[in-house]
Amino acid sequence: MSTPLDHFGYRRGTFSAEKVSLSKLAEEFGTPLYVYSKAAFSEPFNQLTQALGDVPHLLCFAVKANSNLSVLAHLAKIGAGMDLVSSGELKRALRAGSASSKIVFSGVGKTRSEIEEALAASIFSFNVESISELSLLSECAMAVGKTARVALRFNPDVDAQTHPYISTGLKENKFGLDRSEILKIGSQKAKYPGVEISGLSIHIGSQILSLSPFEDAFIKTKRMAAELEKKLGHPLSFLDLGGGVGITYDREKPPTIAAYAKLITKHFGSKSDLKSRYRILLEPGRMFAGNAGVLLSRVLHRKPRKGKDFVIVDAGMNDLARPALYGSYHGILPVEKSRGLGKQSKCDIVGPVCESSDCFAKSRKFPDRLRAGDLIAFLSTGAYGMTMASEYNTRSRPAEILVDQGHYELVRRRETFEEMIDAEVIRGKLK
Ligand SMILES: *Cc1c(COP(=O)(O)O)cnc(C)c1O
Repeated sequence: MSTPLDHFGYRRGTFSAEKVSLSKLAEEFGTPLYVYSKAAFSEPFNQLTQALGDVPHLLCFAVKANSNLSVLAHLAKIGAGMDLVSSGELKRALRAGSASSKIVFSGVGKTRSEIEEALAASIFSFNVESISELSLLSECAMAVGKTARVALRFNPDVDAQTHPYISTGLKENKFGLDRSEILKIGSQKAKYPGVEISGLSIHIGSQILSLSPFEDAFIKTKRMAAELEKKLGHPLSFLDLGGGVGITYDREKPPTIAAYAKLITKHFGSKSDLKSRYRILLEPGRMFAGNAGVLLSRVLHRKPRKGKDFVIVDAGMNDLARPALYGSYHGILPVEKSRGLGKQSKCDIVGPVCESSDCFAKSRKFPDRLRAGDLIAFLSTGAYGMTMASEYNTRSRPAEILVDQGHYELVRRRETFEEMIDAEVIRGKLK
């Protein structure tokens, strides 16, 4: 279980990432700025690897959570596979040095060209989400004389008890295949000669805070696997149990890595009824990345209002979309500890973008002493932060820094204005 302050905290009065002062980074690289801790990515990876013990497994990082090439290269180097949802992410994973034998491709809307590209790369598996996708994949594989390894994505119809926008395992969600479709595929496998159905995959949602939806889904998946094997007439070799384990943003108490691994071991390990029959794939995103990053921002203005000030900062919803998208909570701390002392009053912390949803915190207690020019850090922004950033309002996206103990590296600079308009034309001419 990761918490916001595992790898970030005050050192000699200044908020720091590992051993690096964030005020120093702001001075050198400007704001808004994402700052990641390298150790924060490795720690949950190593813990989960250890906790899974003798369960044969592969941890495929969900690239959409944080797709910075240096982050992916670090995860690939320590042994992680990658879970992708687009050909762009495939190119990133390969560029970062990920082994194609450790790549799985998820997503409800894969295009023909994306499928062709992934076939050419010989990825480990396609997580197929519809019968029409299976036909297309089979056809594409036949055309190039390959057999595509497939996991059918099963929608187990369980309630992940999370935000409706990040709940994916209910019948009414667009994701996956239901039991009857899977059985139909199983009994008509001859219709899909270009694929080898080797597994089932599930992913029931994100930021899940209790183990019980996982357990429900695991039980249903085991039953589904047995039924599918009967129809296919051959055993499956792997089960992909998806991602979705929650993290602490505020006071949430998500399952610990140990408890999550124990549940997996109980259902799929050597002492389970399945006796480690299946290789287990996992697709953690938020669990590895969420508390591995902060977004550094500077206060631009403080606008007094009766009862509630507006604190206007230089990061906007284009830089960090989650609060506007899901009303999600992020801790906010002053970078200089001394600026946080003394009286606090209720404030709305808002960005400069022309939308009223460009609000990071409503009626949050905020130090009176924090003024224009002061730095703040938005915590727990390592997952779905930079990857959801846009250039809305023609604002370049934040730069990114990767910290390793006392060292730091600019791992993505801001795009320039010229780069932002590079693909545009005026009256048939490039600008
Ligand atoms: C988004 C996603 C994940 C990662 O989810 P987290 O909640 O970040 O762990 C894993 N698998 C699939 C198929 C996804 O779409």
